[in-house]
Amino acid sequence: MNQTLQELFAKVDAAKPAMMETWRSLVDRDCGSDNKAGVDAVGQDIKAFLEAAGCRVRFHEYEKAGNMLVAEYGDMSKPFVVLTGHMDTVFADGTAAARPFTVKDGRVTGPGALDMKGGDTILMYAVKFLIEAGYDRYPIKVILAGDEEVGHGKSEAGKDYLAEVKGAVMGFNMETGFIDNGIVIERKGCCRYRWDIDGVGAHAGNNPEAGRSAVKELAHKLLDMEALTDFAEGTTVNVGVIGGGTVANAVPEHAWCIVDVRFRTMAGLARVEKGFEEIAKKTYIDHTATKYERTVLVPAMERIEGSEKLFERANEEAQKAGLPAMKAIAVGGGSDSAYLTMAGIPTLCAMGVKGEFNHTVREWAEESSLTEREKLLLTCLVTL
Ligand SMILES: [Zn+2]
Repeated sequence: MNQTLQELFAKVDAAKPAMMETWRSLVDRDCGSDNKAGVDAVGQDIKAFLEAAGCRVRFHEYEKAGNMLVAEYGDMSKPFVVLTGHMDTVFADGTAAARPFTVKDGRVTGPGALDMKGGDTILMYAVKFLIEAGYDRYPIKVILAGDEEVGHGKSEAGKDYLAEVKGAVMGFNMETGFIDNGIVIERKGCCRYRWDIDGVGAHAGNNPEAGRSAVKELAHKLLDMEALTDFAEGTTVNVGVIGGGTVANAVPEHAWCIVDVRFRTMAGLARVEKGFEEIAKKTYIDHTATKYERTVLVPAMERIEGSEKLFERANEEAQKAGLPAMKAIAVGGGSDSAYLTMAGIPTLCAMGVKGEFNHTVREWAEESSLTEREKLLLTCLVTL
């Protein structure tokens, strides 16, 4: 590389107006997860930017979800670094017009300003600056999902992620940053299940003995499910919603529930799912039938030693470069970083612009963190 870190930093400061403009252009458009056309249009703009910077860009195309952008720079047969993020937001069409990108008192607002158009902007410029500087430490792969906010439920993006990250030495996810400089090295995973139990209906007064209560069967199974909770392991099972029966004077023929499972490790999830299988097979009330299905899977970003070490080194190099000290944190909410740690790749998450109140109208991002976090990412890529 023919530029020092300090020269790169000067370049970042000089480019701030252009970076703000890119940030604005990404925020001021509707690209909620359900708006495939909107997300894909953002993908085309980022493709144009990264191609102009010198990357090769391709897409994984999905019929019912925003496409996944993959950009590469360098010889990908060598160990490479992954920069990742997502292009979709949680906001409905019309939000971009109703409350566009606004900067006031050092705070940036607008749909997805924090989650995660600021981080996307940082990622795009890091690639551009490094290519301009003749960066050759690692080949770079950029992965930007188009349906992260809905957990890739209608696409193959999860599977494609796992295939794309194979061969990476480390990863940086430009997700929402934290005000207190927390860098995420662990995230709980989340699954959701729908259970349905069929029994035999009967009149509660005339022939109750002929009935087989689905509600009663569910009551037993509900307790079995929640008994799988293990706080020490970091695995919780919450039967959050239940329903069943139709009227008080009938033995209920049907019952259902929706269950949320949180887990720190994929092994914790496997234990619960094995338990679910046994609970479904078991019958407390004869002639009842139970079935269930998983409707949501957000894998856990497991805490791996590699991420802990990567964080220590990043924190040291950041402070050497004059950037603020950081702390390693674990959080409850999921991100695509899980697909990197599942492949054993040391990963730092929440590297994007800092702010608060994701997924709400109160969402805001700290303007000054745009260049600060740009410098942090460059420091990581140049020194780690
Ligand atoms: Zn996000």
